[in-house]
Amino acid sequence: MHNAAFRELKVNAEYRLFPLRVEQLDEFFNDLRRMDSPIFGLNVTVPYKEKVIPFLDNLAPFALKARAVNTIVISKERQLKGYNTDGPGFLAHLADLGVSTQGTRVAIMGAGGASRAIISVLCLIPQRPESIRIYDIEHHKAQQLLDDLAEQIDVSIVKAVPSIEDLNVELSDLLINATPIGLKESDPFLFDPELLHAHLMVYDLIYNPAETPLLKIAREKGGRTANGLGMLFYQGVLAFQHWADMELDEKVKKRMWTSLEKGMNDD
Ligand code: NAP
Repeated sequence: MHNAAFRELKVNAEYRLFPLRVEQLDEFFNDLRRMDSPIFGLNVTVPYKEKVIPFLDNLAPFALKARAVNTIVISKERQLKGYNTDGPGFLAHLADLGVSTQGTRVAIMGAGGASRAIISVLCLIPQRPESIRIYDIEHHKAQQLLDDLAEQIDVSIVKAVPSIEDLNVELSDLLINATPIGLKESDPFLFDPELLHAHLMVYDLIYNPAETPLLKIAREKGGRTANGLGMLFYQGVLAFQHWADMELDEKVKKRMWTSLEKGMNDD
């Protein structure tokens, strides 16, 4: 999607993958500081969203609060600034879908990086949910995430629950899957699908497959569903806008979306 945007804007640049091992981070970031480095922006993905923070000069307010970075902007002076567009990207997709989280009961499966960004943003917006429950297969991870966020954010509406039953799916308005469960067809269902109901919106961060078994059953139960392609799109648009320091117009965004969808279909 980023290369599509470069083409549309007639910018001679390339978005490419740097597959790095953790022991290569030092050298990679040292090279980034060189005046002759050709790199002016980066995305950061799992498992480095927190690990890159010590290498940066400063953080935008939301990245500072969420303590996770998925976007880095490098100035002409080779100063490195970290942003997090995952949380805002999720919100932008919800807004697109016409979904408000104000006063809702939210249940989240998974306490990793994506969950961190989503919980942070939901706690910071004026349209705060009434409650957020998080469940992770390793309970201590959910509790640790909450304790960590509590240093920067008012997380009084969030509770880490020890079992999937305690997520109260049957009483929830919005269920978010932030685990990798559903990527493979053989993946187990994480809870009794009978708990899904017509008033529940299910948001699965997974976008490939486009419809996970969770989304399929939720849809069959009459509830609203969405996969994570919209979040991926918006986090990318927001990242590009930080790198380019400008708003992208609708034509460019359309090209980015088409390229993203095409990438999914080519898989
Ligand atoms: P992550 O940091 O690895 O977090 C996933 C969390 O889910 C981990 O804490 C993991 O625990 C937990 N988990 C695994 N199996 C579980 C189970 N059966 N029950 C409960 N919890 C379980 O990954 P992430 O970066 O947050 O990504 C999560 C998912 O969201 C992935 O599928 C990713 O592709 C997707 N994602 C989508 C977008 C988007 O833009 N749409 C953005 C980011 C991520 P363990 O570590 O113990 O396995």
